[in-house]
Amino acid sequence: MKADLVTRRFVRCPHGCAHEFRVEHLFERQTNTAGPWFCDECGRGWDWEVTPEGLEITESKTRLYFHKVLLELPPQKESVFFTLASSGQREPGDPDRLDGLRYLYDEHTCITNWLREVEEVKIGTNTDPHGLFRFVNVFEAES
Ligand SMILES: [Zn+2]
Repeated sequence: MKADLVTRRFVRCPHGCAHEFRVEHLFERQTNTAGPWFCDECGRGWDWEVTPEGLEITESKTRLYFHKVLLELPPQKESVFFTLASSGQREPGDPDRLDGLRYLYDEHTCITNWLREVEEVKIGTNTDPHGLFRFVNVFEAES
């Protein structure tokens, strides 16, 4: 099979970080400005303008300040259900599929590995349970 090679343009953070901003779509739009876009490493914001010469980048007046937030999941009266976007190597109908998934989620996998896969959180019929977690505190993070 022949691979379909695609070339896309990226710009590294002008501050010298390894973060790369994907800019290909800027050349395909009707408007020629964008931003601010924030660097995941230094938090600096950058404004973008497509010019006949290429791209003009200026530092924004706004930036991100990284922190960690501690949330608490207090004891619940009802079960909380999480629907995940998951995948596996066992095909539907495989008699070992359910036991494999049960072992994976009940014992093996760290919760932090599957939290990013959550598509829905449900308590009873409430699929948007605001206030499920309580804010406890914020801690400054290194940028
Ligand atoms: Zn940066």
